[in-house]
Amino acid sequence: MKKLSTLLFISLATYGLEAQSLIQTYKNRADMVSQTNVTTLMQEFGNLGVKTTGSTANTDALNWLKAKYLSYGYTASQMSEDSFTFGSNNTSAKNLIITKTGTVYPNTYVIICGHYDTITGPGVSDNGSGTSIILEAARILKDIPTEYSIKFINFSGEEQGLLGSNHYANNVVFLNGTRQLNVRLVFNIDQVGGKLGNLNTAIKCESDQSGQTGNNAASLSFTQQLANCTTLYSPLQTVMSNAYSSDYMPFEANGDIITGFYENVRSYNEHTVNDTFANVDPTYVFNVGKAAVGALQHFAVATTVLGTNETATNALESIKIYPNPAKDFLNIDLPKEVKNFNIEITDMNGRLILNKENETKINVSSLVNGAYLCTIKANDKIAVRKVIIGK
Ligand SMILES: [Zn+2]
Repeated sequence: MKKLSTLLFISLATYGLEAQSLIQTYKNRADMVSQTNVTTLMQEFGNLGVKTTGSTANTDALNWLKAKYLSYGYTASQMSEDSFTFGSNNTSAKNLIITKTGTVYPNTYVIICGHYDTITGPGVSDNGSGTSIILEAARILKDIPTEYSIKFINFSGEEQGLLGSNHYANNVVFLNGTRQLNVRLVFNIDQVGGKLGNLNTAIKCESDQSGQTGNNAASLSFTQQLANCTTLYSPLQTVMSNAYSSDYMPFEANGDIITGFYENVRSYNEHTVNDTFANVDPTYVFNVGKAAVGALQHFAVATTVLGTNETATNALESIKIYPNPAKDFLNIDLPKEVKNFNIEITDMNGRLILNKENETKINVSSLVNGAYLCTIKANDKIAVRKVIIGK
């Protein structure tokens, strides 16, 4: 028993599972996933038509993606294309890669990916849903420092047999069998649209249970972390499952560590004319998006401090909370235009301790000594301050 727990401790420590509790700033960013954006992105994706690899609609989708990343503030130099050809006519297609450089491990990458090509139908669930989530994650994390570099990758050629991801894994990550890129994790999101009317309250968290065996334990560990993040940062429940038949597999074959999301109750609309916006559950995609943004911050080790960009346009930026440390009362000084606000005090594990509305003098005499996070929300703005209670 003792020996077993020692082994368990070592393996958990190796993959960073030991300290996984809710981080309030991660939750704040997960909550920045916008239902409006997710809905609009899936509608636009659907309106692009049947995006068969190599078709005009497929190229239109690629250009639509590029315009989105540029609108979020990514530069052309952060964007690259990986071109490949296939079939007897040498049909050409492109993967799109957006790179955000890490602060501590700039040469090690967390890849978040999903395919944007579709087959037979407009593919709003398969895989407009994953595409929309990757875009939202890129938008929200654009100016958030992460220790590891992140690559947001939109693959093409998935429906013809993982052609785009296979090309990227074997011509960019590896070249002639020699590794070119260090990959911490490949996090694939495919078909998370959830058919409207189904009970869409859980997500499948997929770990590597096939192919090479040397990377399976690490995949399981990361997938458990993915499941933990899902319950921390979204209302969804999790179902552990196995990875298969999507863009993580060519990476798996090269020994990389993979994980993934797939809808729990399968729609069976994939690869049909019925994979439309009308048939997906946008609330489900919104919730999967929160889970993905929470998990991506965990995997890439995002800063836990709110960045300047997160508060620069925020009327709450000038907020003052005093005294700090406090004994019995906390005073909140807000910009005078802020009339209606909500204050939450959570402990460092994210447990809600106090919740007040429109109060500028908060009685904290019942709180035990220690550090807390004070989150002030007004309209759609948010400010978080760390406060210390000491008596
Ligand atoms: Zn798919």
